[in-house]
Amino acid sequence: MSSDKLKTVTKEDDISPELQGTPIASLLSSHNLGVVMREYERPELLICTCMDYRIKLNIPARYTFIIRTPGANLLDSEFGLATAVALGGIRAVAIIGHTDCAMTKITDDPDKFVEGLSQSGWSRQSAKEYFESQAPTHSFTDPVQLIINQCQLLRRRYTEILFAPLIYDVEDGKLYQVME
Ligand SMILES: [Zn+2]
Repeated sequence: MSSDKLKTVTKEDDISPELQGTPIASLLSSHNLGVVMREYERPELLICTCMDYRIKLNIPARYTFIIRTPGANLLDSEFGLATAVALGGIRAVAIIGHTDCAMTKITDDPDKFVEGLSQSGWSRQSAKEYFESQAPTHSFTDPVQLIINQCQLLRRRYTEILFAPLIYDVEDGKLYQVME
């Protein structure tokens, strides 16, 4: 992982100038610094993060839409993004990758996947074909680069929307800014 691109947030001043005053800064203040946010009636943010069970964000109810996908791949669920923007009025999106993501290792042991899925009722052949069709598009080596690429791609289409790449460290439970 490109950890040289990560920037810690341990005080308000650590939040990058371009994020100050945005819903991303509120997320970082609430989660990392424990700043108590006001109550919200309407969401101000869309978060896309991984389905990983270790990710727990400290944010108030009603503050954000959340899409969870394997590897925090928002391009997999772009209709959710489009809906949050078109109908939810969202103008800021945090794409949150994380350390030790299972999707970086998903192609390491195809047999284990096929065996596990076949125990749910799938035939081994169907499970194998499904793995071979899906695993390559869901696997990646560097979570930092993956979310940078997504942000850069999506900014071209959603030119009025703020996209911020962040990393969640499953060891310390903190969010890190990604310096592009
Ligand atoms: Zn993950």
